[in-house]
Amino acid sequence: MKHVTLPCGEPVAALGQGTWRIGDDPARRQEEIDCLRRGIDLGLTLIDTAEMYGEGRSEALVGEAIEGRRDEVFIVSKVYPHNASRRSMQRSCDNSLRRLRIEAIDLYLLHWQGDVPLGETVEAFEALRRAGKIRHWGVSNLDTGLMHELHDVPAGAAVQTDQVLYNLGRRGIEWDLLPWLRERRIPVMAYSPLEEGRLVKRRELMDFAKKHGMTPSQVAIAWLLAQDGVIPIPKTGSRKRLEENALALEHPLTTAQLQELDALFPPPKGPSPLEMI
Ligand code: NAP
Repeated sequence: MKHVTLPCGEPVAALGQGTWRIGDDPARRQEEIDCLRRGIDLGLTLIDTAEMYGEGRSEALVGEAIEGRRDEVFIVSKVYPHNASRRSMQRSCDNSLRRLRIEAIDLYLLHWQGDVPLGETVEAFEALRRAGKIRHWGVSNLDTGLMHELHDVPAGAAVQTDQVLYNLGRRGIEWDLLPWLRERRIPVMAYSPLEEGRLVKRRELMDFAKKHGMTPSQVAIAWLLAQDGVIPIPKTGSRKRLEENALALEHPLTTAQLQELDALFPPPKGPSPLEMI
């Protein structure tokens, strides 16, 4: 498995597993658990969840899936902005730990910026880190301006990632956020790498994939993997699609293929507000 190194020096799998909407349908539960476990077998050991996903259902399912395999996985979870305060974060984290059935979250993220000042959120993260309940912390959906602000608060430079919307059809971060993060060696966790499944149905991607002997999802994931410090976290509850997606690791794109994709999905020509799903 290709790895990406966090600013703290710890390597994590370059291809992870998303879990939004997992655990929502009781009929698919066992298949989703098997799928996550198969992903771990294939080296997709970084698993992304959040207290928001199904109001805890996703974390609970992840907890079940990683039973007996704690040492193999790197668990990322997220705190709601309204819980990202000195007073509430500890309770949120305790609840996530209970659902996940683990002693410490490997990487705990602020899901997006709300009303709590970033300085207070960082203080709360650092208190959890000292207490051994989280190992590292990071953020999600923060644009370049907010990343500047974060970096300026005490201990703000300990941020390990910014998890943002990034895929072939949403390249806005390449203008300013991605270079800013790269300069500081902070990896991007690319969420909705398949645009929630819509990207794989785009005609230009389907044609490109057919021409190059790949599937559209493999192209979309391989394009993200081709970039330094980018960790795609596709979600699937299907073992067949998981295996298809994991094969993206075996199809590294050539410079010529990347240029062809630039023509089909052009990079940004100027700044734009950070997009979110
Ligand atoms: P995504 O990974 O871009 O796409 C998931 C959808 O694509 C699912 O409907 C899945 O269906 C389908 N899919 C997966 N593999 C496929 C394949 N090979 N061919 C065709 N369809 C396929 O979307 P996402 O779930 O929004 O994003 C991924 C993860 O990022 C989330 O699960 C979550 O962990 C994280 N996220 C974070 C934020 C944030 O604010 N920080 C926001 C959104 C997402 P099946 O499951 O039926 O296969």
